[in-house]
Amino acid sequence: MRILDTVRSTDLSLSFEVFPPKTDATFEEVLKATEEIAALKPSFISVTYGAGGKGGKYTLEIARTLQNTDGVETLAHLTCVGAGKEDISSYLQTLKAAGIRNIMALRGDLPEGMTPEDMKNSPYPHASDLIREIRKAGDFCIGAACYPEVHPESSVQAEDLRYLKEKVDAGADFLTTQMFFDNNLLYNFLYKLRETGVTVPVVPGIMPITKANQVKRALKLSGSFMPRRFTSLVDKFGSSPEAMQRAGIIYACDQIIDLYANGIRHVHVYTMNKPDVAAAIQNHLSGMLGRTF
Ligand code: FAD
Repeated sequence: MRILDTVRSTDLSLSFEVFPPKTDATFEEVLKATEEIAALKPSFISVTYGAGGKGGKYTLEIARTLQNTDGVETLAHLTCVGAGKEDISSYLQTLKAAGIRNIMALRGDLPEGMTPEDMKNSPYPHASDLIREIRKAGDFCIGAACYPEVHPESSVQAEDLRYLKEKVDAGADFLTTQMFFDNNLLYNFLYKLRETGVTVPVVPGIMPITKANQVKRALKLSGSFMPRRFTSLVDKFGSSPEAMQRAGIIYACDQIIDLYANGIRHVHVYTMNKPDVAAAIQNHLSGMLGRTF
């Protein structure tokens, strides 16, 4: 099934995300967590691609299991930083043979010491170049990343939006956002994006922060603005793991409910290999909306 059809759902639907292990040693553990998340039957599960282009084999193995054994629609991420034409072409063939038809196409974060200038000689300097290649390779449904708070490498939002439109013109069917903790940032971004003429669905990505030490990492990854309401919650509950997990889930559900009230119908949850968090989000929303997920 094309994920584009899922994200156009008429009532609130959720998808979850897992990330592959870095080594063989933790593969079984990650696979077990993935299968527990799959048992919750989300609309789809996305499987990230190891940073710096490493770990594609694990992404593939997990995506293949989800798609063919667990029967859950899968969105396999693929990054092009450090990848050659041959690498991408054979990876796409393997995805196709595994029955995976949905790809999140990304450039990926630049490895330490590398600058965007250094990427100029690469066959795929940007995600838009990868998207064009995937489009040529066959009938894939393609997602791309977007940044309500502007990508850290862009100096102004207008420039970021221009390049985002280029990704859609290259063939992206839908966009998924970087995490954000203040929904107004998303609404402002959507106004500006629609003004550029981009009409494809935008899927908000919500990250439940369930541990105080996740805050620093989330900030480093995304540069997201942390509203006072959120930081007070971490101040109050951060020292108690159970209380922090509950507070983080409630905050994420509050964001999801507000998105739903404002017309959003599909939300992607960065569940980070945590089946208990995924299940708690579903249960909490079920209680609030009076229906099961
Ligand atoms: P691009 O779209 O190429 O953009 C990167 C920067 O270049 C932006 O500043 C953009 O404005 C600029 N730009 C774009 N096109 C041009 C152009 N033609 N000329 C000049 N400048 C241009 N990382 C992983 O390693 N693995 C993952 O699985 C992964 N999944 C992600 C999923 C989502 C939903 C998001 C939001 C991010 C994810 N990331 C992942 C992180 C992502 O790879 C990084 O944010 C990376 O720095 C940018 O990737 P991109 O695809 O957005 O790049």
